[in-house]
Amino acid sequence: MSYILALDQGTTSSRAILFTRDGTIAGVAQREYTQIFPKPGWVEHDPLEIWSSQMAVATEVLGRAQVTPREVAAVGITNQRETAIIWDRATGQPIHNAIVWQDRRTADICERLRADGHETMVRERSGLVIDAYFSGSKIRWLLDHVPDARARAARGELAFGTVDSWLVWQLTGGRVHITDVSNASRTMLFNINTMQWDEQLLRMLDIPDSLLPEVRDSSEVYGHVSTTLGLGDVPIAGIAGDQQAALFGQLCTAPGMSKNTYGTGCFLLQNTGTAPALSESNLVSTVAWRISGRTEYALEGSVFIGGAVVQWLRDGLKIIDSAPAIEALAASVPDSGGVYFVPAFTGLGAPYWDPHARGTIAGLTRGTTTAHIARAALESIAFQVADILDAIHDDSGIALRELRVDGGAAANNLLLQFQADLLGVPVVRPVVTETTALGAAYLAGLAVGFWSSTDGLASQWQVDRRFEPQMSRDQAEALINRWGEAVDLAMGWARETDA
Ligand code: ADP
Repeated sequence: MSYILALDQGTTSSRAILFTRDGTIAGVAQREYTQIFPKPGWVEHDPLEIWSSQMAVATEVLGRAQVTPREVAAVGITNQRETAIIWDRATGQPIHNAIVWQDRRTADICERLRADGHETMVRERSGLVIDAYFSGSKIRWLLDHVPDARARAARGELAFGTVDSWLVWQLTGGRVHITDVSNASRTMLFNINTMQWDEQLLRMLDIPDSLLPEVRDSSEVYGHVSTTLGLGDVPIAGIAGDQQAALFGQLCTAPGMSKNTYGTGCFLLQNTGTAPALSESNLVSTVAWRISGRTEYALEGSVFIGGAVVQWLRDGLKIIDSAPAIEALAASVPDSGGVYFVPAFTGLGAPYWDPHARGTIAGLTRGTTTAHIARAALESIAFQVADILDAIHDDSGIALRELRVDGGAAANNLLLQFQADLLGVPVVRPVVTETTALGAAYLAGLAVGFWSSTDGLASQWQVDRRFEPQMSRDQAEALINRWGEAVDLAMGWARETDA
């Protein structure tokens, strides 16, 4: 058997990727599926379409690569996190569309929980801040709004799952109802210290435990694909939420090792070892994975507008034709000419947490050109990542030795060089940047002996390019301080105009 099949169920598309034993990609299939926006701030997916698109790409990638199911050693799953689905155990029918992680309909439930003083308890038990982003309040909403749901849940007729659970249920013909620890840690119902569903959190949200999946390791055989699906009876052997899977795919398997994904937003995770590090800076503590019963944790921070600032230059300002074109424009000037661009289009996340901040371009002069603005826009991505790493450093106390990177904007060499300069540590881009799917494949392959150990995988992880810091620390610190002043200008803006 020569392949691992990774199912990467993302927010806008379902993908299936075949990996060979040396960790290279043998085939990819991808299908976008419907985004449903019933009201402003609401985002739903049809669970049956999630499933059918995922199944379709799995079949397609095997067909295109001319690989038979007998050649597949295991299936690994990685998924959009926090998205909540409830279905009928007897019929397998969802009782409602999936409520997607981006959906804000439960903001008022969370507001009330905060007003009732639950914040510290939630943080200590789940590692999370109280927010509509996580699954808990979404489950509560479904139970409160779908007719009969509460009564049916009380009778044990319903099952809840994040997307991983839903896919495993479908893949096993309804025989297996499980999730892995990394996904469980995003529900706001899971105690990351005891590694159990937490009675107090369940009570706070009035959610019956009869709904919940069994919580398993991130790398073990959970069951086999039902033969009726035509994918053979391949073992399903690895699961992790997308960001944790990317951390594993980057082989950040020792404390302090960190990865950043430069996508639309940025997701930064640092492995903090075998004990949860609670954050003082409103970062999230999360379970990275559990392998052979051994749990590793991570601190996580996200930047709302990362690569999206480049999209804005393309589609809003129209000063570039394509996202990659920003690099040549920005490189046409030696620096930003004193321009600082804070892309707080939707407020600022960690470590500032200001929903009223708005985008600001400071330091404009008669000499400012589109090139300076492009350069300042790229630099803003790196400044925001540096801010999060600084907060992570305060919380974990671990010094960063290098930053591993992936995501669409990690193709930008100027950005990564500036990132290394700001951080004062090397920034490393691997050859395989499909780290999310790779992480799921690694977890599955380890469970079935396709790969023998994490250490062995580390030796096959290959560097595409390593960006060494070139700037003096004095200069980097001066830039970071000035950035901080620009952030101060951006903060609170919407509040003042709204008043
Ligand atoms: P997501 O998974 O969030 O959709 P991707 O990882 O595909 O995002 O990355 C897409 C983002 O990267 C877009 O916001 C785009 O503007 C940005 N991007 C793509 N290529 C480049 C580049 N060469 N330089 C800077 N940004 C880029």
